[in-house]
Amino acid sequence: MVDISGQTIDSYLLLRRLGGGTFGDVYLSEHIHRKELFAIKILRFHLSQENLQLFLNEARVFRLAHPNIIRVRDFGMEGDVPFIVMEYLPGGTLRQMHPRGQPLPLTSIVTYVRQLSAALQYAHDEGLVHRDVKPENMLIGMNGEIVLSDFGIVTTSYTWGENPQAGAAGTALYMAPEQSQARAVRASDQYALAALTYEWLIGVPPFLGTLPELTAKHLFTPPPSLRRRDATISAEIEQVVLKALAKDPAHRFASVSEFAAALEEAARVPVGTTLQAIAPQDKQLLSLAWSPEGTRLAVASSDAVSVWKVGAGEALFRVNWHRQQVTAVAWSPDGSRLATSGSDCTVQIGNADNGQGLVTCAGHHEEVLTVVWSPDSARLVSGGADRVLRIWDATTGKTEAVIVGHGDDILSVAWSPDGARLASTGYDGTIQVHDSQSHKQTWMSSGAVPIYMLAWSPDGTRLAAARYDATVQVYEAMTGRLQQTYRGHSDGVFALAWSPDSVFIASGGDDTTIQIWRPDTGLLVHTYRGHKRGIRAIAWSPRKGKETQIASNDLEQVVLVWQAPYV
Ligand code: ADP
Ligand code: MG
Repeated sequence: MVDISGQTIDSYLLLRRLGGGTFGDVYLSEHIHRKELFAIKILRFHLSQENLQLFLNEARVFRLAHPNIIRVRDFGMEGDVPFIVMEYLPGGTLRQMHPRGQPLPLTSIVTYVRQLSAALQYAHDEGLVHRDVKPENMLIGMNGEIVLSDFGIVTTSYTWGENPQAGAAGTALYMAPEQSQARAVRASDQYALAALTYEWLIGVPPFLGTLPELTAKHLFTPPPSLRRRDATISAEIEQVVLKALAKDPAHRFASVSEFAAALEEAARVPVGTTLQAIAPQDKQLLSLAWSPEGTRLAVASSDAVSVWKVGAGEALFRVNWHRQQVTAVAWSPDGSRLATSGSDCTVQIGNADNGQGLVTCAGHHEEVLTVVWSPDSARLVSGGADRVLRIWDATTGKTEAVIVGHGDDILSVAWSPDGARLASTGYDGTIQVHDSQSHKQTWMSSGAVPIYMLAWSPDGTRLAAARYDATVQVYEAMTGRLQQTYRGHSDGVFALAWSPDSVFIASGGDDTTIQIWRPDTGLLVHTYRGHKRGIRAIAWSPRKGKETQIASNDLEQVVLVWQAPYV
């Protein structure tokens, strides 16, 4: 390589060598009259007539006009040396921005793949195959966008043997099996982009080795599992990447933009971030509650209730207002207070900002297992092992009413969003709906299968019940008519939550998955995997803007907070 900086080619003064690749060196250049800066790629070594023609083919990018493809401004010959004049992008390449070995955040990966696939799809539609998709050929544009360069550099007739000094190892890292056999097709670009996505996900490309080893591995070795390398990568993401890395181009996605769309879809199933991990305890009915503004989370574990600022690593405070274990927590809709139920037969009310205890509600004769607020934050209802519902004045702690009717422990109560009705359930498997003023029963379902959790849809129209027989049932709230039975779980369901817009239900239990599904159709939308033991609580954050989060808790008392699907 001879640096020819200082020389003039045509009307361009070569200022500085920027780098060099397979076929040429790139110089930062200035147009001698217009004083404009360009990047000029000059042929580096003698080419056969055939390869010269192939190099000239790069000029086909003249036709390409796309925000994610480098603009070629001019093309010429200086004697027998051809050169290409491109816009100069001073922002560097993706390889410089992200050195090898560094996994990237999923959001960045999705953003890159979206732009690169748009560029490739456009070129494919124009009849071009890039053939050299690699981070060295991805430049950073003026607005931070990714700009693909070097179309058509590697040739159809090109073989490694012909050109050993090709610096080809970098390229071979991502090269599709059919391309190493000189049969590059559009899907070869998809393969290379997927191999790069693989590298961005875990920091290493699918295969490493010498050039012949790499070629052989791309041809014959299945890519190692991403999830074995990083357990937080979802099965959905892995599936998408592995499909695009299929050895047979016919088994990949039909187009590179389909690959990008599938990756984006899979990325909507994010991995949870662990907020808390404490020692395992058995048989706990755990519970979680979001603050109304959606930034804090109250976690009831048996020894205490703790309040977390989501995203921060430490609890704001941790407190136990009970003389025995805490069994459940509820955040008042006005945001000011927390209510907890306990094994000491009481319901306790405390300040949600500083953890100070305020009011004791005494009257239950056995362990209290569940407590919820009325929508106006004035009252509470609780239930538990003594099989009665108690309605409390939240200011005085006095019992307002006692409702009897359950034949076994009450495990869950739900107050209708309009405040008019109460629904309760438990080990006896019945759902009982009462008027919250007259305390008269509105309807009651017959039942035998224990129900662990009941939730009123935020729009007030439906009730969903998490059942021990691995189903979730959805009832019309007014009449008790069964509308839907969801059968996606493979073991007992212990927890559920509605999305704030009442469109989705998140449910979970002993099969350790959280399933997001539509109660109107009964169809599964997403599966969240990350818990290692049975899920016992799920809470969906209130809508603030459009982003919502789902918190879940398992028997190991690991709380995960997930990005909820976009609605
Ligand atoms: P390779 O892509 O194999 O690295 P190239 O000859 O295509 O080799 O380019 C060499 C280097 O020159 C690139 O890695 C990049 O850093 C730089 N470069 C190429 N084109 C441009 C451009 N249009 N603007 C700015 N820098 C560029
Ligand atoms: Mg290049």
